[in-house]
Amino acid sequence: MSLGLVQAAYIVSALLFIMSLAGLSKHETAKAGCWYGIVGMTIALVATIFGPATEGQFWIIIAMIIGAILGIHRALKVEMTEMPELVAMLHSFVGLAAVLVGFNSFGLHIQPEFVAPEGMTFTSPEALETAKATFLAEQEVLANIHNVEVFLGIFIGAVTFTGSIVAFGKLRGIINSKALMLPHRHKLNLAALVVSALLMVAFLNSPENIFPVLLMTAIALAFGWHLVASIGGADMPVVVSMLNSYSGWAAAAAGFMLNNDLLIVTGALVGSSGAILSYIMCKAMNRSFISVIAGGFGNDVVASSDEEQGEHRETTAEEVAELLKNASSVIITPGYGMAVAQAQYPVADITAKLRERGINVRFGIHPVAGRLPGHMNVLLAEAKVPYDVVLEMDEINEDFPDTDVVLVIGANDTVNPAALDDPNSPIAGMPVLEVWKAQNVIVFKRSMAVGYAGVQNPLFFKENTQMLFGDAKERVEDILKAL
Ligand code: NDP
Repeated sequence: MSLGLVQAAYIVSALLFIMSLAGLSKHETAKAGCWYGIVGMTIALVATIFGPATEGQFWIIIAMIIGAILGIHRALKVEMTEMPELVAMLHSFVGLAAVLVGFNSFGLHIQPEFVAPEGMTFTSPEALETAKATFLAEQEVLANIHNVEVFLGIFIGAVTFTGSIVAFGKLRGIINSKALMLPHRHKLNLAALVVSALLMVAFLNSPENIFPVLLMTAIALAFGWHLVASIGGADMPVVVSMLNSYSGWAAAAAGFMLNNDLLIVTGALVGSSGAILSYIMCKAMNRSFISVIAGGFGNDVVASSDEEQGEHRETTAEEVAELLKNASSVIITPGYGMAVAQAQYPVADITAKLRERGINVRFGIHPVAGRLPGHMNVLLAEAKVPYDVVLEMDEINEDFPDTDVVLVIGANDTVNPAALDDPNSPIAGMPVLEVWKAQNVIVFKRSMAVGYAGVQNPLFFKENTQMLFGDAKERVEDILKAL
């Protein structure tokens, strides 16, 4: 494949990636968005593998087949609730790839010999010397740029690698989701950055010496680990989107090292869309980006106790069915528990049944419900709930006082009034779905256990709240039968 054809293919791929992002931003066009991405990536891979800059196609294809088998196997097996962990793990691969590309590119800037341009003659030996000196100066600048790319690429890659591994562990529950509060943690972070900057200067001064790069890699690995470990459970949504952004920048850095324009464009798209997503998540949680990154925000205050705060009332599926039959407006607020129980299908059936009876049923979706941005929207779309009854928190929050029944299906932190009432709560200040303002609130969960942020929920002890214990899917199916 000629260079011209490869460049043309890259432009088509880049356009398809942009169309893919645009498509993914709306329910109706999300499927098309996925296809644009798939086609774009296929074109990009074919153009790269068979392009003039690539050798050893046989081994690349073997590696791709092994990778594809592993990837397809994981993707088919992964539960919807494990998706965030999978995403975190994939981010760590991007980070690791950037580190490997960096070390592979180390010292690879081969200085070409000076060759006088064709047709050019030098009138004097001095003129030839001047041309040579200019050429060498240019080469030095290029070598410096390459070395900066290598250094930054390895740094960003290493931070992304360990940061994503910690995020994976926290989401999977194998690492404590509480913020790690090392003494002088901000100073430690700052020291890591300053020492890395000094190491970069040392490296640029003697680029053949790999020691500063090795030391920086060790520091960056520890820095990435500490950065995410010191972020508390409630801030995890921002961490996931932040690592998404980092993985993009790591890919872009790899693109610079490999001189691959498409990788730079793709990395920048992922990096900036991840940054925008982080901003949206911060806004949704009423956090400043800096305080999330600085880590441990909200953990300095006294954590609310996870003890029970009074009496709670229990109800049965039959009673809830009766309540629903007599209601004229119902709001369903799903959370992580709906994903665990896979209750979206019977929830969709109940929605259809109640709507047939002329009851106004709508969904209120908190921006950080579940464990992934858009988690609930994906589940409801999967169960074919009509899009027009699925509303964002801001669109529905004012309607709770006029609502007869709210069904809180496996949600906890996102409907916790302590976020607004208790300034000492770790989730203080986070906007929540104000479900307690409705006439009746039914909470579906298996026990009185706390949510992801580890705080008890005063909603469960309010007078207008009743608990419907058990697996959300089974309980919703019971209600469906009773209806
Ligand atoms: P929570 O994680 O706060 O609570 C979920 C509740 O579901 C639990 O209290 C649990 O109670 C219940 N549950 C679990 N399994 C079942 C089941 N099979 N049937 C019925 N109930 C069940 O949920 P929210 O969605 O309200 O909040 C999301 C939290 O996750 C927030 O703190 C958010 O910050 C965090 N987060 C969000 C991310 C995102 O991007 N959206 C990413 C990372 C973290 P019990 O055990 O008693 O059944």
